[in-house]
Amino acid sequence: MNIIKQKALHLLENAFGKTGTVLAVRAWEPATFFEVDVHFPDMDMSGWKRVQHIKVRVGEGIYRDYTPAGWDEDIRTCTLYIHAEQDGPGAQWIRSLRTGDRITYVGVGATMHKPTYAGEMVVLGDMSSIGHYLALQQLAGSRKISGAITIADENHREEFKEYFNWNIQPVKNNGDGGLQSMLKWTSDKPLANSNIYISGHIPTCIRLRKELKKRNDSPLGILVQGFWS
Ligand SMILES: Cc1cc2nc3c(=O)[nH]c(=O)nc-3n(C[C@H](O)[C@H](O)[C@H](O)COP(=O)(O)OP(=O)(O)OC[C@H]3O[C@@H](n4cnc5c(N)ncnc54)[C@H](O)[C@@H]3O)c2cc1C
Repeated sequence: MNIIKQKALHLLENAFGKTGTVLAVRAWEPATFFEVDVHFPDMDMSGWKRVQHIKVRVGEGIYRDYTPAGWDEDIRTCTLYIHAEQDGPGAQWIRSLRTGDRITYVGVGATMHKPTYAGEMVVLGDMSSIGHYLALQQLAGSRKISGAITIADENHREEFKEYFNWNIQPVKNNGDGGLQSMLKWTSDKPLANSNIYISGHIPTCIRLRKELKKRNDSPLGILVQGFWS
């Protein structure tokens, strides 16, 4: 993020910044993936027909986007699912977060992704997409979503299967952004009647979309929401 954008966000934070309180933090094993339950009393979720994202202050003048999932309107809580295998400011912030801490965020924004009602919904992404697709599933209600999430660590793949009763498979991320695993997962699936959602690592999203567009059975749509590069 360039310095002008950071300064603008800092001004916005002073004018419109809101806070939430951390209710619980759960780390997966190894501790490079975190679930954070947060109470956001003033969160404006009027756009909750699409998956939303919030800009969270992770350091002095530094903000990162995270996705509210499991939104409960009555008690105004949600869970953030944060991947922290890297060593960026967001990853450092989440590793230091404790129950009772305050979270400051600037605004709630809509992403490109919302449920589609024609055809099937197929989702593809990496661990930074888990919360995003849990939110999409919540919005889609009882409609089944299938797909694959690329996960490098074997124990994380086991935890994914154990924690989520979901028709989405954890597949191995071989260090190529998970591209080959996602292509392999799609290779024997008929996709002509599917809307495909892609999110996560931006270069991988672009390559995956390009490969899927080469298929003979053209999917109904390919909807990309890039997160990080
Ligand atoms: C709309 C939107 C919603 C998002 N929702 C979520 C969410 O719910 N959960 C979530 O975890 N992230 C989410 N992200 C991504 C998040 O905002 C950050 O970009 C990401 O967490 C990295 O921040 P960082 O400060 O840790 O690393 P950065 O300072 O951005 O990057 C440092 C280095 O780490 C690498 N890197 C960055 N992210 C990852 C990663 N996930 N895995 C491996 N290497 C990485 C970069 O390539 C870079 O080399 C979302 C992004 C957007 C735009």
